[in-house]
Parts: sequence; structure tokens; C-alpha cells
Amino acid sequence: MTRPHDAAILELKNLLGPKGWSMERDVLETHNREARGKFEGHADIILFPASTDEVAKAVAICAAHAIAIVPQGGNTGRCGGAVAGQDQVLLNLKRMNRITEIDARDFTATVEAGAILKTIQDAAEEHDLLFPLSLGAEGSCQIGGNLATNAGGLNVIRYGNARDLVLGLEVVLPDGSIWNGLSKLRKDNSGYDLRDLFIGAEGTLGIITKATLKLFPHPKHIATAWVAVPSPEAALDLLALARRTTGDAIAAFELMCGFAHDMSVTHLPNLTRPLASQTDWHVLIELTSSRPTDDLQSLLTDLLGDAMEGELARDATLAQSDAQRKNLWAIREGIPEAQGFEGGSIKHDVSVPVSKVPDLLTRGMAAARDLIPGIRPCPFGHVGDGNIHFNFTQPLDMDKADYLAHWENLNRVIHDIVAGLGGSISAEHGIGQLKRDELAHYASAEKLKLLRAVKAAIDPDNRLNPGKVV
Ligand SMILES: Cc1cc2nc3c(=O)[nH]c(=O)nc-3n(C[C@H](O)[C@H](O)[C@H](O)COP(=O)(O)OP(=O)(O)OC[C@H]3O[C@@H](n4cnc5c(N)ncnc54)[C@H](O)[C@@H]3O)c2cc1C
Repeated sequence: MTRPHDAAILELKNLLGPKGWSMERDVLETHNREARGKFEGHADIILFPASTDEVAKAVAICAAHAIAIVPQGGNTGRCGGAVAGQDQVLLNLKRMNRITEIDARDFTATVEAGAILKTIQDAAEEHDLLFPLSLGAEGSCQIGGNLATNAGGLNVIRYGNARDLVLGLEVVLPDGSIWNGLSKLRKDNSGYDLRDLFIGAEGTLGIITKATLKLFPHPKHIATAWVAVPSPEAALDLLALARRTTGDAIAAFELMCGFAHDMSVTHLPNLTRPLASQTDWHVLIELTSSRPTDDLQSLLTDLLGDAMEGELARDATLAQSDAQRKNLWAIREGIPEAQGFEGGSIKHDVSVPVSKVPDLLTRGMAAARDLIPGIRPCPFGHVGDGNIHFNFTQPLDMDKADYLAHWENLNRVIHDIVAGLGGSISAEHGIGQLKRDELAHYASAEKLKLLRAVKAAIDPDNRLNPGKVV
């Protein structure tokens, strides 16, 4: 029997030509599976359009046949946002990967949505400019996915989230029409901010096809230090001191518990312990400056001297070479991978006001230990943004499956504490399918009503990425 789906597939194949689609098993297997393995898609066709026009026509075909479309970037998201259900069409932007302009006068880059984040960073650097969005998946995530999830990462404290780094967007709407908002304007108060609606919408309102991004002067100097701090409170005092004394040169400020640090240096190859001493809490601090005359090594040395004197730091080391700096970052960025060597882990990507981070950590760790005796808390993250990856590794003597069966119970315990502190259950990774019910649980009735009204207004037939976010 012919389904509407089959008729649409024929039209889509004709539209996009042989390079523009695949129904091959191994291609579909790769794109239907999210890396963490928590979500499995069922699409039997994936589209690879090469232009905005092709995206628009493909969306129009799907709309005419009442078929849902799931946009996909680098598929590095962790929330089940880019996986498609049965009879849905997966649309990956990877062939739309051009950087169409770097404008050194406007300090902008205009790019197609499928451009890999690292490629954009490199292209900016060739012009002695910086695109500051930086995250562990930057070698494979696409800028369209970064914008659709309002990605955060390592430099948010200085430059903001993906949302703060965009001037304009081009978006294909659920009926196949194209909204051209590809502006370079830094000021535009002419009505509702449509651009901001599509950023963070996780592909539920439109398919981002192009973006105009903000660029910055490329740093001329970088100074990086690893610091042993007595407590999360001390880390926050150190952050405040650093902000006051370095002229806001802080580009990154990461907190890690001792367990997270130990796992990284124990399980991952070729990493060197930064400090001989043991400590329960570590901070990675990085200063950058684009002023040729700045001496950041001295600035950071003075800061750490003051921190030691004020008992905000117990020990510290400054990276003296690029290799040493890379070692420090590899310890921090390797934590999620290293956690895998210690069994199952239950994860939370949450944020609270920066000053509430110590409260969150104390209460969260105590509540988790009450719920699951022997659990090993592994909090780390972008403390300067109040964003903690509040992960918990299984007890040593517990079966992995038995431990992971506690996922929802532990989520509820941690999310309740987060909500009580005025925080968010999703700091940077998004909602997708993973946290859709949690969003419905924690959002106010007014917020939910508005979210659903926006979705209904822009995508009344629920054709774009249904079942995600709201
Ligand atoms: C090792 C590692 C480290 C990470 N670190 C961070 C981090 O520090 N900060 C952070 O925020 N995230 C982080 N992530 C998560 C992930 O990389 C980001 O969410 C990233 O922005 C997703 O981009 P992507 O291209 O892979 O999107 P995908 O995973 O393909 O898609 C994510 C969502 O965006 C939608 N989407 C994708 N492209 C488009 C488009 N063109 N138009 C409309 N919707 C679209 C999809 O439908 C889906 O809902 C990390 C992931 C990994 C694997």
C-alpha cells in the first residue's frame, strides 16, 4: 500500500537529486542515533539540501503531505532533540557549510547553518578575529545546531551564549516560506525580536539556514592557571576578586570537584596532574586580552598571590607553555569521558544565580547521598555562569542498571533544589525530549501557555520537530 510518506519521498528525491538524500542503512543508522545512546530515531530517509531554496521547497513538500520534519546539525546534542520518529523526515544541514563573508569592518561573519563551529572559529582567526563560542563538540557541531540550542560553553562569562553572538538569521518557516532576517544591525527596535524566537527553539519553529555572527578582536595574550581552592565559596570569592582586579579579562572560570579531577588524570592518557597537593575543589581560570601591551602572566600571578594571602587559594600553577595550557584544558574537558570509566552516571545540566552555587552543591550532594547511599557526586562546570554539570557517578558496589533506574528520582530531587534556588533545569543543553516533561512540571502556567501559543502561532500544524520542547 502506498502511504502519503512514499509519495512525498518521491518528490523530495526529485527535488534534491542523488546527493541530496539517503535511505542507506549505515547512513541512517549514524544519523538516527544520538551518541549517548539514550534516544534512537526511526527516520527512513535523510535529506541533505544544498541551499536555502532546497530547504524551503523540501519543507513545502512535507507540509503538503502533512509530514513532520526534524532538523539536524552535527547531532551532538544530548537531549533527543535531533532524532526523528517513524514517518518523519530527517533534514541535515551539513552540505550548507559555506562561510559566505567575513566583514572585518562590521566585525561579522555570515555563514550557512551547516558550517562546523571550529571552521568558523578558524576562518575568523585567519582575519585576526575571534568567534568566541567554544565547546567540547566544536569539531562536529554545526552553527545552526548551536543557535537552535542557544549553546553555552567555555567563554560565556566573557562573551555570552550563542544568542548574544548573533545579529541576524535566515529561517525557513513550517510552510516553506523564508524569513530573511539576515541583518548586520547592532540596534533594531522595530517590533518583536523574531531572531530571538528561533534561537533556543531547538528546531520547533523554523529551520535556521544562515546567520550573521558577531566577531571580536583576537586575543593577543592568554594566561591560564590551575588553582586548588578550599571550597566553592572560596571559588566565588576568587571569581569576584578576579573580576575586580583584572579589568574583566576573565575569559573562563571553571570549577571542578576533586573526584572529577582525579578521574580525568587517572583514566585519560597523557595528562599530567597540575598540582602535587590533593584538594576537594579545583578552579581553572583563564585571562585573555587583545591589547598588545598587557602582561597577563603578571596580572594572574598577582591575583593568585592575593588569593593565597586571603585564603581563597591553597595552591596554584600557571601554564608556562601552550602544551601546559592544553593539558589543563584537557583535564577539564575530559571529565565526561573519564566518568564513563567509573560506571553509570546520572546527569543534570542546571543553573542557579552565581551566588547560590555553593548552596546548590551542598544541598544537592547531601540529598543525593540520602537517596542513594554510596553515590559519588561529580559536580563541575561553568561556575562563573552559575552553570553546574551536576553529575553523579554510581556507588562502587551497585549494578549499573540498578543505579540508572534511579535517574528520574534523582532528577526530581536535584531539580526541586534548583527550582527552590530560582534556577533553571536546563542551562545550556536544551530540552529536546529528555526534559520536556520536566519543563512542563517546573514552568509556571503562564510560561507554558506562552510557549505553546508561540508554537501554535508559527507552526499551527505541528510539523517542525514535533514532540520536542513543548
Ligand atoms: C563533548 C560534548 C561537549 C559539549 N559541550 C557543550 C557545552 O559546553 N555547551 C553546550 O551548550 N552544549 C554542549 N554540548 C551539546 C551540543 O554540542 C550542543 O547542544 C550543540 O549546540 C548542538 O549542535 P549540533 O549541530 O550538534 O545540533 P544537533 O544535536 O544536531 O541538534 C540539536 C537541536 O537543534 C536542532 N537543530 C539543529 N540544526 C538546526 C537548524 N539549522 N535549524 C533549526 N534547528 C536545528 C535539532 O532539531 C535539535 O533539536 C556538548 C556536546 C558534546 C558531545
